[in-house]
Amino acid sequence: MQQLKGIGASAGVAIAKAYRLEEPDLTVHQKDINDPETEVKRFEEAIHVSKQELEAIKEHALKELGQDKADIFSAHLLVLSDPELLNPVKDKIKSDKVNAEFALKETATMFVTMFEAMDNEYMKERAADIRDVTKRVTGHLLGVDIPNPSMISEEVIIIAEDLTPSDTAQLNRQFVKGFATDIGGRTSHSAIMARSMEIPAVVGTKEATKTVKNDDLIIVDGISGDVIIQPSEDEVKAYQKKHEDYLAQKAEWAKLVDQPTVTKDGVHVELAANIGTPEDVKGVLENGGEAVGLYRTEFLYMGRDQLPTEEEQFDAYKTVLEKMEGKAVVVRTLDIGGDKELPYLQLPKEMNPFLGYRAIRLCLEEQEIFRTQLRALLRASTYGNLKIMFPMIATLSEFREAKAILLEEKEALVAAGTDVSDSIEIGMMVEIPSTAVIADQFAKEVDFFSIGTNDLIQYTMAADRMNERVSYLYQPYNPAILRLITLVIEAAHKEGKWVGMCGEMAGDEIAIPLLLGLGLDEFSMSATSILPARTQLSKLSKEEAASFKEHILSLSTTEEVVDFVKKTFQQN
Ligand code: PEP
Ligand code: MG
Repeated sequence: MQQLKGIGASAGVAIAKAYRLEEPDLTVHQKDINDPETEVKRFEEAIHVSKQELEAIKEHALKELGQDKADIFSAHLLVLSDPELLNPVKDKIKSDKVNAEFALKETATMFVTMFEAMDNEYMKERAADIRDVTKRVTGHLLGVDIPNPSMISEEVIIIAEDLTPSDTAQLNRQFVKGFATDIGGRTSHSAIMARSMEIPAVVGTKEATKTVKNDDLIIVDGISGDVIIQPSEDEVKAYQKKHEDYLAQKAEWAKLVDQPTVTKDGVHVELAANIGTPEDVKGVLENGGEAVGLYRTEFLYMGRDQLPTEEEQFDAYKTVLEKMEGKAVVVRTLDIGGDKELPYLQLPKEMNPFLGYRAIRLCLEEQEIFRTQLRALLRASTYGNLKIMFPMIATLSEFREAKAILLEEKEALVAAGTDVSDSIEIGMMVEIPSTAVIADQFAKEVDFFSIGTNDLIQYTMAADRMNERVSYLYQPYNPAILRLITLVIEAAHKEGKWVGMCGEMAGDEIAIPLLLGLGLDEFSMSATSILPARTQLSKLSKEEAASFKEHILSLSTTEEVVDFVKKTFQQN
């Protein structure tokens, strides 16, 4: 037995075999060969096996993931049958007497470069197909396994350096029982996805990929952050018991599922959930969510090879609004960048992606992408209670410009006779310190704020949220953060506006009494945190919590704040 320590990112215990999801090493070297005919045969054999594999993946994708995903593999199959690509590879093997993988790499690179340079979306997609297919064929030529996460068909725990949101989007929820990664913190997107998929996860173990082999039996304890490799029978039993206890605790919380969230002194607080896909709404309702406080729409754009159309987006937004049956749904416009990449947009690599060209900055520049999303949202607005907010706003002029574009699109739709709701609130995320500091200015122009503490803390403390080495600086209770939050809440209330929080802090047991006392109106969290939070809030008095506000804001360190909360609230 071996044990790794990481950060518990999603509660629960999972026990299953390990499945390593890793980028294979496909380094190709040029080699001279004597027998080109045999080499061509080897190439043809690799094409043949790749085709069989893709047929199987396509079938599986069609059954499990739908036509859209299956179409991606049909396109790959077409590439594998295209003589325009295959013949030049064979010719090169024969004329230059080089190995098949090298001839393929040279030929594919030439096509990819040529197609990518064209100002034509269709050709750019073909370049992406060629790149993917080349990877698969090269893997076969080199004898290196290419992982196919969408093909997993038995219960597994994923082991990876990191899971990007698009990797996560492709995982089959039925079979993936948990995951453990080398990097990441509580607010990295892999952790957030695990919570919305309700699967146990441990991130930031530093060496899971070094230590765990495929098919090792693994225990992931998302409560304590432990990963146990090849456990003994007794350990398996002990963790099964822990898993059952956790389920029993969940059943206890579940008793509050149809209850409103009311504090001990009778104040209603709104408990909302964060979602990434329309499928997540099921978990929101099962966990008694009173609203969707953050719909991260970027997941609609991921795990695919082109932008979603207006129609596809309209369907997704309409589904969420309808399923929520008139409860508020706060949709955040596209927040791409940082750890959320869209390879098909082919944005240049940046030195500091979290501080770079992302979210609203990109949307204001690439307006067609933004306007398409806004039209889809506006058209869906009549199916429920829609609120729209913009991510990563740094300046008032960004907010004004985004809002003006939204109103322009609304006007155009109305002029064309399309129904659009008249009561859509327009708000913004507060996740850049500059906006918190002058929240009084913003409060005059927004309908609401939603505080994104995952980024607000990252930017205030200058500590990358993906880097486990600086994860000690993720300090939600640091007085600097609490004072910024106070500025936002006070400024909003002065203008009669409401304030939510959709960063992970909103569901944190220590933070909840603090935020209640500071006057936060809406708490939006992972669906699985809602019932524990409701239980906790029912035991707290808002008036009492508010009476400590001044004292808490006068404290000087995180430790002092945590001590105070533990002493004052936890015996309740
Ligand atoms: C945040 O930054 O707190 C937030 C909710 O947005 P995301 O985690 O998607 O960056
Ligand atoms: Mg953010």
